Amino acid sequence: MEDKELIYVAGNPNVYPLEYYDEDAGTYAGVIPELLRQFSQQSNYQLVYYQEGSRDQRAQLAKNRQVDLLSGYTQADEAPSHSQPVTVFNAVWEGEQITYQVYVSDVAPEALKGQLESYFASVDEETLSGTSIHAAVQYPTPHALYWSLAGFGLAAAALTAAVILLMRHYRKMLRKARQSIETDEVTGLGNAEYLTRYYKQFVNDKNRILYKLCYFYVDTDQLRRLSNNEETNEFLRYAATLLQEYTGDSDILARVSDHGFVLAKLSGSAQTDEEWLTSLITRARAYSEKYQKPFEVNLSAGIYPIKASDRDLNEMVFNASQSARAASQTGVDYMVCSDQVLHQLLEERRLQADIERALTNQEFELYLQFYVDCGAHRIVGAEALSRWQHPEKGLLTPGRFIPMMEREGKISKLDYYSLEKVCSFLEELVELGIDTFFISCNFSRDTFAAADFVDNCKRIIGQYQFPRELLVFEITESVSSKNISQLQQNTVALKEYGVKLALDDFGEGFTSFYDLQQYPIDIIKLDKSLIDNMGTERGDAILKAMIRVGHELGVTILAEGVETDDQVETITRLQCDLLQGFRFCYPLPRWEAQKKISQLFLTARTDDKSFSPSAP
Ligand code: C2E
Ligand code: CA
Ligand code: CA
Repeated sequence: MEDKELIYVAGNPNVYPLEYYDEDAGTYAGVIPELLRQFSQQSNYQLVYYQEGSRDQRAQLAKNRQVDLLSGYTQADEAPSHSQPVTVFNAVWEGEQITYQVYVSDVAPEALKGQLESYFASVDEETLSGTSIHAAVQYPTPHALYWSLAGFGLAAAALTAAVILLMRHYRKMLRKARQSIETDEVTGLGNAEYLTRYYKQFVNDKNRILYKLCYFYVDTDQLRRLSNNEETNEFLRYAATLLQEYTGDSDILARVSDHGFVLAKLSGSAQTDEEWLTSLITRARAYSEKYQKPFEVNLSAGIYPIKASDRDLNEMVFNASQSARAASQTGVDYMVCSDQVLHQLLEERRLQADIERALTNQEFELYLQFYVDCGAHRIVGAEALSRWQHPEKGLLTPGRFIPMMEREGKISKLDYYSLEKVCSFLEELVELGIDTFFISCNFSRDTFAAADFVDNCKRIIGQYQFPRELLVFEITESVSSKNISQLQQNTVALKEYGVKLALDDFGEGFTSFYDLQQYPIDIIKLDKSLIDNMGTERGDAILKAMIRVGHELGVTILAEGVETDDQVETITRLQCDLLQGFRFCYPLPRWEAQKKISQLFLTARTDDKSFSPSAP
């Protein structure tokens, strides 16, 4: 058994009972996997299914040369790239010969193809029928009865008859399996696979240019943050029902990802498009009011008019989705994908390609925006904010790169990188004799909720000398997070380690008060939207109550985004503790912030002892 060479196999989850993915057993099952297992037992290879699951990933895995063997083909299927077929067995179905095949890829060991050929040639009726019985015993399913009956039949009957039986069952199962594979669980609409299948059926060379791909984007991440998973799903179902109303007989509607629906619409003129789109989006946005939900919902659309030369559905959906995101970011209802939009997308993709280099070359820079106290407006600390000094594009603010890095899964690298910069800055200040200035750091939710977050932070912080309470971690999480318990555990562990915690963007969602109970918070950062809405009697009363609750819990209250003297006056009257905003200063580069801090703290120390501000 030991020292067997590993062979990676990509299976076909959709040809029950010849080969299928058994969810219960968490593995591939059926006649072909069983034969392959027998082959594995008597050969020098150990066969392992690669990326097991109910998605057919064979084409991609073949393209990437990630597997040695691709399974579950007939002669009628499109051959995977970089590979050679080997016949498993032949069967006759409705007078037609069907050849079942596996493909050996060009990264497989050289001898594999020949060995498989001779193994499959040696498989006789008895082995095959035995395999089916064996499969039934090993993987009990609701069809076990059928299997055992089929098993007896197979043992006695000829191979052809057996395969006919199997095929009949297979067709029925395939239809069923297809239905479940092609359905979105949340809304009951078809999913991306469904869209692909119907697109092929509906759209052809003659009618292609009459179709438009409309992508409807829902910021589900934000929605989950502002409400919770169930509320989010409820809105998605509402949106699905609404979209169905606008779906004609020749149109295809599907939910293709967590964020998006696609409606492939046989369309009219631009004017009628404008009408139905505006009506649909307005109705979607009315959801919160209609059902009295305490959060805003949004639906933005990206429209991709299909061109005669377009062939790649995925690319079209991608373009439409990007236009929808662009619409969402710029606050318009919908955006038609034009050359200009595509150009911007291209720019974004180029920027995306620069991220790795930027991290290696340290192109991200630490900027600091000061916090002042409410009384004398003395500088007491700062928030660390990242900027990207791009060699060609100049200085980029986080809006240009953080959402992209989050999508690309690269944000953690930046977060740890920024943390390290902050630690080194704090150490520098302490060396200068400034040991009360505190700095808060932003972390993406995914970074903060990771299992190794605390260890990684301790490793970084441990390399620098400064009092730990000068470091503040900002969290922006709410009840709806996926890894809520891990996140909570992390906050507690960090607190024990000695750093402080701030709750960022407080008041943006309606679950924020819940977070106060969940996390050992030291500072609440009141979201800019609360500050912007100050001035009405009710608004001020709510804010005052919030501040009082915070104070009763022993928490420092900080107002973000303070821009005007009026705001300063009101928020001070409401007994806020700290302020941050353009009214006082913009984010400054590290060197400039350091100069200012040194001037203020070191001069003040000799002149006036009471100036020394303290960390919260
Ligand atoms: P945030 O945490 O809410 O940070 C405050 C943002 O508000 C900053 O934008 C700041 O420049 C801006 N701001 C401050 N005062 C005012 C004001 O008076 N008026 C207005 N209109 N805006 C004000 P910035 O620097 O563009 O950062 C945007 C967001 O990017 C931040 O929002 C933060 O969540 C995120 N971010 C920045 N650096 C990092 C980082 O290293 N890692 C992660 N994960 N996120 C970061
Ligand atoms: Ca922040
Ligand atoms: Ca904030």
